[in-house]
Amino acid sequence: MQFDRLYIGGEWVKPIDGGLRPSTDPSTGRPWGDVAYGGRADVDRAVAAAREAFAGPWRKMAPWERAALLRKFADLYATRVEALAQIESRDNGRAIRESRGDIGLHPQYWQWFASLADKLSGRTIPMDDSVHAFTSRVPVGVVGTITPWNVPLMAATWKLGPALAAGCTVVLKPAEQTPASSLALGEIFQEAGFPAGVVNIVPGDGATAGAHLVAHADVDKIAFTGEGATAKTILKTGADTLKRFSFELGGKAPHIIFADADVEQAVNAATGSAWALCGQSCALGSRVLVESPIYDRVVEAFRERAGRVRVGNPLDPATHMGPQAHAEQLAKTLDYIELGKAAGANLIAGGSRLAPSGMENGYFVEPTVFADVAPGMRIEQEEIFGPVAAIIPFDGEEEAIAIANGTRYGLTAGLWTGDVGRAHRVANRIDAGMVWVNTFRYIRWSTPYGGVKQSGWGRENGIEALDSYLETRTTVISTTGTFADPFAN
Ligand code: NDP
Repeated sequence: MQFDRLYIGGEWVKPIDGGLRPSTDPSTGRPWGDVAYGGRADVDRAVAAAREAFAGPWRKMAPWERAALLRKFADLYATRVEALAQIESRDNGRAIRESRGDIGLHPQYWQWFASLADKLSGRTIPMDDSVHAFTSRVPVGVVGTITPWNVPLMAATWKLGPALAAGCTVVLKPAEQTPASSLALGEIFQEAGFPAGVVNIVPGDGATAGAHLVAHADVDKIAFTGEGATAKTILKTGADTLKRFSFELGGKAPHIIFADADVEQAVNAATGSAWALCGQSCALGSRVLVESPIYDRVVEAFRERAGRVRVGNPLDPATHMGPQAHAEQLAKTLDYIELGKAAGANLIAGGSRLAPSGMENGYFVEPTVFADVAPGMRIEQEEIFGPVAAIIPFDGEEEAIAIANGTRYGLTAGLWTGDVGRAHRVANRIDAGMVWVNTFRYIRWSTPYGGVKQSGWGRENGIEALDSYLETRTTVISTTGTFADPFAN
């Protein structure tokens, strides 16, 4: 697979005002390959290709034909899972066992979106005998999709799947740090036989290519995953065109363990979630709320498990946790660890940069645990995006709910209890788009995912994912064909 071209209009083209730049392997801190990136002129080309495809072949294609193409894409994707996982782990440092697990599920996502493509029906509106009124679901148009570096293929799948099922065309701009796996998608779209311009892939800088895509008058919608601060900039940049926006933003998920829970299972979930993706996911339970009677037991379990995490080469199947995906994220995580110490939280495991043998310049951090974290501390309020668990003691449901809801985020939450009444009571009062009870991070193609408060707008996955890629058109047809002359009398 070559990464030195952009995928625009169904062809692999050289950038006009971009170029080639090295992509860094975060486990060594050294470049591993050159990747094409685009500038404004390249974005213009991609948007023009997407517009032409939208007006032409894609708009005219029957929904069942679109569904068939998506199914073919899903089948081809399934044959590339290992290759895609290798590229992604190389580019962003995610442990290969995790990349395989995540990317191995993507064909199911594509199959699910394919299955929705020919079921976008409207409804008949009861009126009187003089008219027949009905709604149709029509695609929004050209969609700019902007994705982050932590889960490039997952983010692309969650956006392109529903966008294409809805009948939209797409320009995909992956994060500048991890563009390679997104470019690899181009080959699969080409092989599946998608009409030219339906999908265009242009890596590039957020401030230039990304901002230009957002401001573009011929882009009808932006689907974005990333930081809240970037989303606010995007809203301002896109305001003049009044385009549509959907946002998947950050999270600071509370993971609540009540004393009546199956503590062993809860600890399995909570420790797994603390260090998955080296802490670089918005869905992880970065705040672990533990009821007082079991507090010491859970803290000790975290300390012990931290010592069992195998940190190292992400391409080694034995590795549990790879490096942070880039140098800025490493620095951010280490800064937050210092903030936690300064605030008086109790560092019980980790806390330092790691230098595994042969990868001394890699961006590794120890699995880190702070106990006795107090609500309001910055490590309790802000998204670190590193392998740092913050354990917070509480007493009773009211305090747990107050702490859980005490941040500006509201993406995911988890709770563990043996009391079914409590499960319903507490789940019902948590401000989050997704709540798990006696499980954690169960996310699938059919389960709507997204945030409340400052965690985002709209939902990905599920039937709901289609909503933000569709408009509703209402048609009213007279059954009489008569229209009274307003000036007859
Ligand atoms: P950023 O917001 O920095 O970047 C996300 C994307 O936006 C990148 O492609 C970036 O390009 C682009 N971008 C940056 N500035 C602009 C701009 N002015 N206009 C248009 N596009 C721009 O987020 P990160 O990549 O740092 O990702 C981490 C964040 O994403 C975390 O906060 C995390 O919570 C969130 N996230 C949320 C998820 C969810 O589902 N809710 C899932 C995964 C991550 P470039 O790379 O060139 O800067």
